[in-house]
Parts: sequence; C-alpha cells; structure tokens
Amino acid sequence: MRIFKKTAVLKDWLNSLNKISFSIGFVPTMGALHQGHISLIQESKHHNSITVCSIFVNPAQFNDPKDFEKYPITIERDIEMLEMADCDVLFLPSVSEIYPEGFSEAKQYDLGFLETVLEGKYRPGHFQGVCRVVERLLEIVVPNNLYLGQKDYQQCMVIAHLVKLMDQQSNIQINICPTLREASGLAMSSRNMRLSEKEKNIALTIFQSLELIKNKLAQGDINELKREAIIMLEQKGFRIDYVEIADANTLTPITEWDGKQKLVALIAVYLNEVRLIDNMILN
Ligand code: AMP
Repeated sequence: MRIFKKTAVLKDWLNSLNKISFSIGFVPTMGALHQGHISLIQESKHHNSITVCSIFVNPAQFNDPKDFEKYPITIERDIEMLEMADCDVLFLPSVSEIYPEGFSEAKQYDLGFLETVLEGKYRPGHFQGVCRVVERLLEIVVPNNLYLGQKDYQQCMVIAHLVKLMDQQSNIQINICPTLREASGLAMSSRNMRLSEKEKNIALTIFQSLELIKNKLAQGDINELKREAIIMLEQKGFRIDYVEIADANTLTPITEWDGKQKLVALIAVYLNEVRLIDNMILN
C-alpha cells in the first residue's frame, strides 16, 4: 500500500495513472478502523482498479471540542488493517494539507431541511464541517465511486446533496454500504473503543430498541412505539438526543404511518460521555 501525506504528491501520482478503462474507488474515514470500514474497502476493491482510503480526523466537523480531543487514534493498527485488506492507497493528510487557509472561516453549504433535523439539529455546524472536508477530499482524489456507510444515514444524504451542489465535470457515483454489526447486534463504531465491556453490553439496547420499533411497526399512530423505545433506553441510563421515525427518502419525521411509506428509525444517545448513533430501515 502506498501512503501519501501530501496533497500535491497524491494528485500527481493519481494523474500519472493511465485513465483508460480505469476507475478510482474512495473510502473517506476518520481512522480508528474496524471491520465496518474494511467492508467499504472490500466493496471498493471489488468494483474499482484502485482503492483510496483517507484517514483524517476532521476538526471542522466536531461541534463538541471534548469529542474531538477524545476521538480514538490508532494509526499503526489502521495501516496494518488496510494492508491486510489490500487497500492500494492511504491518504493521511495533516490539518494544514486539508485546510491550507485555516478552518474557522468557512464557506456555507445550503443543505436545506437536512440541516434542521436529527444530527443537523443536535450537532450544529457538524454537516457544514462534513461538507468542507468531503468536498476537499473529492477534489483531491476525484473518484469515480464513493463508498459510504448506512450507519451514518443522514450523512449519506448530506453527501449526496453535496455532490449535486459541486460543480464536478466527472460524475461521482455514491455507493451506500450496509451497517456492519458485532455478533450481538451493536453497530460497529470507532466510538465503541471508548466503551468498557459492560458499557458495550448496555449499548446493545440501541439495536434492540430499533428492532422493537421494526417488529411492532403497524399502520396508524406510531408515537407510542417511539415512547416505548425511549423508555427502554432511559431505563438503561442513556441520555437521549432523539429517537425518531422518519420518511426514509426525505428524513421528515412522521407520527402516523399509512402502511406504505418507506420508513427509517434513527437513534442518537449518550452512554455516559460517549455519543452513539444507529438506524434501521423499517419496511
Ligand atoms: P468514520 O470513520 O466513522 O467517519 O466512518 C467512515 C465511513 O465508514 C463512513 O462512511 C461511515 O458511515 C462508515 N462506517 C462507520 N461505521 C460503519 C459500520 N459499522 N458499517 C459500515 N460502515 C460504517
């Protein structure tokens, strides 16, 4: 695997490749890799001539400075995992490579409704930061295929919106990959590294409450279903940002189900100091 730390060097190398019947798959990450990330690499490797993974803990997307400080960094292990997965390129830039002009003065992206609900509402500025880094990375890597995890459901929608906003000559195809879970059902996440074994067992309740919503979903009023999930989580000591059932295509929260509309349930909770998110398509 080739490791690039400098934007210009990576760009030159990518430009030097013969582009005829050639495709680049790109997997942006913040490191502290787990099998969920590796599943994206594998998907990319399957469909592209070259797979580029980036590891960059993006300061611009952390609305909570403590969350940024405590974000796990396991770079040596990450490199080993990427090598084992036969990833072709790792882009490992410094903050100044990504934000040569600094990152406090920011361009604003019009994300509309998406920025007013769920993660957008509870993490002000977060999606602006996500768009800044993803736009920059896409301009550097210029991939044909971008691989994202359903684990970050709303982020996938934001990035799809960003790609439409971007004035790109080339079409970037977005590929959304399923959420990889532990055998217990807990969604794999870099933030799980901050949980003790006991906390991981408790964190499983997030998946269980999504399953409860899915299994009990019925036409009509669905507020009671949300309440049940909230009680289940609160009884285990979670602090809840949201438990929401929304239209799977628009993320508009709903309270009544007609039995047909495609739905997704989304949860964001704190277990002690660690914020965890998960979601499940319901029908
Ligand atoms: P992150 O490093 O958390 O920013 O995630 C990088 C990419 O990996 C994003 O597209 C995530 O949605 C995806 N991802 C994170 N966790 C999982 C998982 N458990 N299964 C599949 N993809 C994931």
